[in-house]
Amino acid sequence: MDYKLILEEIAAEIEPLRQVGRQADYIPALAKVNPDRFGICITTTDGEVIEWGDVTERFSIQSVTKVFSLSMSLSLMGESLWKRVGKEPSGAAFNSLIQLELDRGIPRNPFINAGAIVLADVLISTLDNPEKDYLSFVRSIASDSTIGYDYEVATSERAKGYINAAIANMLKYYGNLDNDIEDVLHFYFLQCSVEMSCRQLSKAFLPFADRSTAFSFDGISLTSSQVKRINAVMQTCGFYNDAGEYSYLVGLPGKSGVGGGIGAVYPGRYAVATWSPRLNEKGNSVMGMKALELLTTHTNESIF
Ligand code: GLU
Repeated sequence: MDYKLILEEIAAEIEPLRQVGRQADYIPALAKVNPDRFGICITTTDGEVIEWGDVTERFSIQSVTKVFSLSMSLSLMGESLWKRVGKEPSGAAFNSLIQLELDRGIPRNPFINAGAIVLADVLISTLDNPEKDYLSFVRSIASDSTIGYDYEVATSERAKGYINAAIANMLKYYGNLDNDIEDVLHFYFLQCSVEMSCRQLSKAFLPFADRSTAFSFDGISLTSSQVKRINAVMQTCGFYNDAGEYSYLVGLPGKSGVGGGIGAVYPGRYAVATWSPRLNEKGNSVMGMKALELLTTHTNESIF
């Protein structure tokens, strides 16, 4: 498969979308990012890297981080994790408060905000030094010690994070948060603020594509079956209330974030990351989603 040529064709095809959609501005620091960026990077299971566009510029991975927090939480808690968070697609906005109330404080899945806030609570209860340990796991899975938090993004999100604060309060009310609300929110916003480039993100997603190699990073281990299940949750819940549309168009387990990044995998073959800050109305990158749709269409490679 000539991925290089295919990426060039895709880049030309999606160029007309470069100014379609709006970047997230409810997190003030994200409004400062140049929205007209696009990058895509494929890392194959045999180590080849094929890329196009803005692949080295770092962006805020936002909700893509939830794949890493789920990996850690599942490794540390095993199946008991699912008592505190579900694994059903939400069909609702990523920050829905009304759904959490109807579900009496058990978030639908770990990839909506409420679910990831519960994961942050789990990690605070189980890790010795949550901020340090989280970053060191992410650095280890990406094999890159330069990856870090963006404290400006995290502080700016906390300053305006009214809905996430409401979600945390409701979780606490229903008894699904053990730690102090402020501590949990602080850690959750830090996780979202992790900065990576497309090149780094595709590398970090490779272990989810390659189940022939043991998943073991910085003391966090998952069985091949657990990795398969994380891919299943990505497939069904990774794109908020756009998950059905994404599945229909793309057909690769993936996770998006409001920073405009997407990480996805074609199991057994490659991990891919895209970045373009302009989002559709559901909060997913316009160019990124289209690029992945064209990638699976042109290659005829998808999980379906
Ligand atoms: N930090 C963002 C929030 O909590 C993450 C949302 C996202 O990327 O979907 O609102």
